[in-house]
Amino acid sequence: MRVVRVFTGEDVRYGLADAASITLLTDEPFSSYETDDVISMVGARLMPPAMPTKIVCVGVNYKGHAREMGHELPPEPLIFLKPPTSMNAPGGEIHIPEGVGRVDYEGELAVVIGRRAHRVSVADAPSYILGYTCANDVTARDLQKRDGQWTRAKGFDGFCPLGPWVETDIDPTDLLLETLVNGKVVQSARTSDMIFSVPTLVSFISGVMTLLPGDIVLTGTPSGIGPLHAGDTVDVRIEGIGALTSRVV
Ligand code: MG
Repeated sequence: MRVVRVFTGEDVRYGLADAASITLLTDEPFSSYETDDVISMVGARLMPPAMPTKIVCVGVNYKGHAREMGHELPPEPLIFLKPPTSMNAPGGEIHIPEGVGRVDYEGELAVVIGRRAHRVSVADAPSYILGYTCANDVTARDLQKRDGQWTRAKGFDGFCPLGPWVETDIDPTDLLLETLVNGKVVQSARTSDMIFSVPTLVSFISGVMTLLPGDIVLTGTPSGIGPLHAGDTVDVRIEGIGALTSRVV
């Protein structure tokens, strides 16, 4: 299934999309729902495809990015949070705040949690996942270094583009992930280069904090990070999912 959230002109609804149409749902895709009206996919105003209580992110989870940053491979996942207010819709605008210095893209595979997960095992973790989408962990790099911790650098409104939809039936273990700035490929890696796998991350995080339906896990960025500038268009493309486009202003 391909799960979207769409603004219908009246309210925001979940739906199941194909290339041409969206079948609206009467409730969230995590619970029991029935199908409702069908609207056109053409011109649909898509919203971030989940409503998380928290966005849990993983730092340094690709071997190539660890090398690029001069880090040793971490012995366990390094996690941090982005606030839900950082979410940005597909096709949205990333606003570069005044006076923050360099702002970077970080293309990432995002996991969408499907049911309450508290201390789940690695083996059981996949059954707690609804599906996968594309994310951009936008980062004010100078502030990240200056502050010593990452809340401000990662937390600005709009610093988490997410979408365009959740694909529920893909295997996340070896997908091509690419980030493009103005059409030029700047990150290109396979998710098989992750240090900690998706089930390992979900299990680890669920041992720290209970994950709820709609919560998001950003699984880290590969090598090739770099700055964004006003006027840029940035795409995060993941094999089997699609492309998440944002404009920088
Ligand atoms: Mg990141």
